[in-house]
Amino acid sequence: MAATLMDGKALAAQMREQLKAQVAELGKQGVVPGLAVVLVGEDPASRVYVSMKEKACAATGIFSSEHKLPQETTQQELLALIDTLNQDERIDGILVQLPLPAQIDEDAVIAAISPLKDVDGFHPISVGCLAIGNPTFRSCTPYGVMKMLEAIQCDLNGKEVVIVGRSNIVGKPVALMCLAENATVTICHSRTKDLPAHVKRADVVIAAVGRPEMVKGEWIKEGAVVVDVGINRLDDGRLVGDVEFAAAAERASYITPVPGGVGPMTITMLLFNTVQSAAQRAARS
Ligand code: NDP
Repeated sequence: MAATLMDGKALAAQMREQLKAQVAELGKQGVVPGLAVVLVGEDPASRVYVSMKEKACAATGIFSSEHKLPQETTQQELLALIDTLNQDERIDGILVQLPLPAQIDEDAVIAAISPLKDVDGFHPISVGCLAIGNPTFRSCTPYGVMKMLEAIQCDLNGKEVVIVGRSNIVGKPVALMCLAENATVTICHSRTKDLPAHVKRADVVIAAVGRPEMVKGEWIKEGAVVVDVGINRLDDGRLVGDVEFAAAAERASYITPVPGGVGPMTITMLLFNTVQSAAQRAARS
């Protein structure tokens, strides 16, 4: 294999140590960062994510308050809880685990979270601030991708970045973040004509599609950096990304593994945003 692996697990562990130290410093000013985690219903994957987030908070010294609501919770009830959490001075970040049950309008819930506590970075104000080049909270997975590129000192200035996927949680925000670093950005999606031609000219490829190994190794330009956000479970139980890893690694200079690449960075950036929010609270008081 020619490519160097971008080890998200190691970077996440290093960042979490730094965050722990920052939390200890804030503690000296009487500020304990607080994250409210809201889970509605019984979705097994969501329960696992929420428990991972709570454990990560505890290990970093962040106070987390857990709000588990029944599947039949109404939108009004959830909005009332968000309102209470918006007012709660111990809470610096509010995370509502998605997806929500069908009777609840996700957009309305996200919009109800105070932009000062929007540590997931999904609020229209957070997204708008990112779009105009004045970011507040950046959404966690794309921000994690940027930290990984920074860790290998990948200077995006003038580079061709090709992103496959245009979701609100990955493709679009990572495109804006790369643009802010002066990359020339192309966003590809299901209607893109000749996807291979776009990927072939990329200095940096960011794949966020959700289709196992659909970005072929032979499309990767010699020496390109490949970031694979995809997490796909195959019938045989294996986890693979959106990039044909073995073949891509023959051509790339750097590549993220799946698992152990972008995945571990997402929760780390949630902790990062929560500590940033608490630091802002400390500065205000
Ligand atoms: P979405 O399903 O929301 O978006 C997928 C995107 O891929 C869409 O923009 C879609 O295009 C595009 N697409 C689908 N098929 C093709 C195709 N044949 N050619 C080109 N583009 C295509 O997914 P997410 O952004 O939420 O997630 C993407 C992947 O990243 C998933 O595997 C997910 O599990 C993973 N993920 C990992 C995270 C982590 O922590 N590491 C966090 C979040 C996601 P169109 O818009 O036209 O439909």
